[in-house]
Amino acid sequence: MGKLGKEIIGIDIKKLSHSLKKAFADEWLAYYQYWLGAKITEGPMQEAIVKELEQHAKEELEHAQMLCDRLIQLGEIPPLSPQEWSEIANCKYLAPTNPYVKNILEQNLEGEQCAIKTYNQLLKEVKDKDHVTYNMILKILEDEEEHEEDLESLLEDLKLGKH
Ligand code: FE
Ligand code: FE
Ligand code: MG
Repeated sequence: MGKLGKEIIGIDIKKLSHSLKKAFADEWLAYYQYWLGAKITEGPMQEAIVKELEQHAKEELEHAQMLCDRLIQLGEIPPLSPQEWSEIANCKYLAPTNPYVKNILEQNLEGEQCAIKTYNQLLKEVKDKDHVTYNMILKILEDEEEHEEDLESLLEDLKLGKH
């Protein structure tokens, strides 16, 4: 990012980067939680649930990619070691110790609700200060809201025995 590009950002770049790095860590942990959940989950509606978990994993990885690109544009270095992810993340990584579909869906739902809170807060931080980051976070928040809704629907279908 050039001189003027940086100058027009009305928020301290170090502070902004700190928040973006934390979100980046969240996304990798969310990616892994979905990715592994899709591999090991079992129970009713397994096929439909695995398909959704895999789709969400892919989208979480895209979020990590977007955050990484923005950090680099800002002249910042993304976390260099996966060990840092759990240390700096906003949202907890929930290990899928019980692979039953309902448990996996509930764990991921908890993750999405944490993500929605995090991005809602981050949007407020950058509003009217950094339009480019604002747009990126808005797109991510839209995805996280959709993820929450998808998981809620699957849990509802499970409950109603639509399988
Ligand atoms: Fe995400
Ligand atoms: Fe998500
Ligand atoms: Mg979906």
